[in-house]
Amino acid sequence: MTSSESETAAPRPRHPEKAHRPDQASPRKPAWIRAKAPTSREAAEVRRLMRDKKLATVCEEAACPNIGECWKRRHATFMILGETCTRACAFCNVRTGRPDALDPDEPDRVIESVAAMALKHVVITSVDRDDLADGGARQFQRCVAGIHAAAPGTTVEILTPDFRDKAGALETVMETPPEVFNHNLETVPRLYPSIRPGARYFASLRLLQRAKELAPEVFTKSGIMVGLGETREEVLQVMDDLRAADVDFLTIGQYLQPTRKHAAVDRYVTPEEFEDYARLARAKGFLLVSATPLTRSSYHADRDFEALRAARLDRLRTA
Ligand code: SF4
Repeated sequence: MTSSESETAAPRPRHPEKAHRPDQASPRKPAWIRAKAPTSREAAEVRRLMRDKKLATVCEEAACPNIGECWKRRHATFMILGETCTRACAFCNVRTGRPDALDPDEPDRVIESVAAMALKHVVITSVDRDDLADGGARQFQRCVAGIHAAAPGTTVEILTPDFRDKAGALETVMETPPEVFNHNLETVPRLYPSIRPGARYFASLRLLQRAKELAPEVFTKSGIMVGLGETREEVLQVMDDLRAADVDFLTIGQYLQPTRKHAAVDRYVTPEEFEDYARLARAKGFLLVSATPLTRSSYHADRDFEALRAARLDRLRTA
């Protein structure tokens, strides 16, 4: 490419695989979906630290509606393994394509940032890295081990990919168990081919079950989005499947369409329906449930960790 060509070349689309799809129109957002912009002083500090450390957050990459609130509380979710995902889920705003080589210094920068932010509870997630032999499992393990060593009072929650077809990956992660192991089912199994085509529902369930088998003391957690066309019965079946896999904590939130090339919102689930889901999930035996329109896996994760611990103690006392 000549320099004049490179000057005029169009920027690479964030989701090249979706660029030629027809636009999808979602219904107008209801009053109960309110996003606050990250304009506080604390949010500016979080942003500066992330830029300084050359780290990404899923808060920004996924265009999370809670960023204003979370960053004001200095609660951010680190996104490791680079910024480019090898999958192309229909709901996700994270950049897709061919990722850069793995950065061996990334765990150190995460560990330094956790210390700089004086976090009591940290959430670490990642892009999918199907190109790596271990799917990025060792990088997760290095982050958890490093934080536990550098800040023994800090609890760690990881939200991992499914490590599909990566033998031994979960075992690598669980060499140094985090306090919370999270893997999202994202939606009901019927919608996997259109919403999460690179994944398999029962493989994700099995990952959660296996994490609990490998480290029974670790809290396991999973979440789904609603408003994608699922039925109430399907959501209740997912709850049963997660309980059968011994999952402790369920999150349910409203799907929001990141761009017009992503899957359209089928409908906005009302706050009352969320309350109904929460009530039913509690009755099915989850230790903790968060089900509100703006619930995201990492929303209030620090407070929820304390609630999880308390709920476990309570259950042990009454057992
Ligand atoms: S809910 Fe999670 S992803 Fe969204 S802003 Fe808060 S910490 Fe970030």
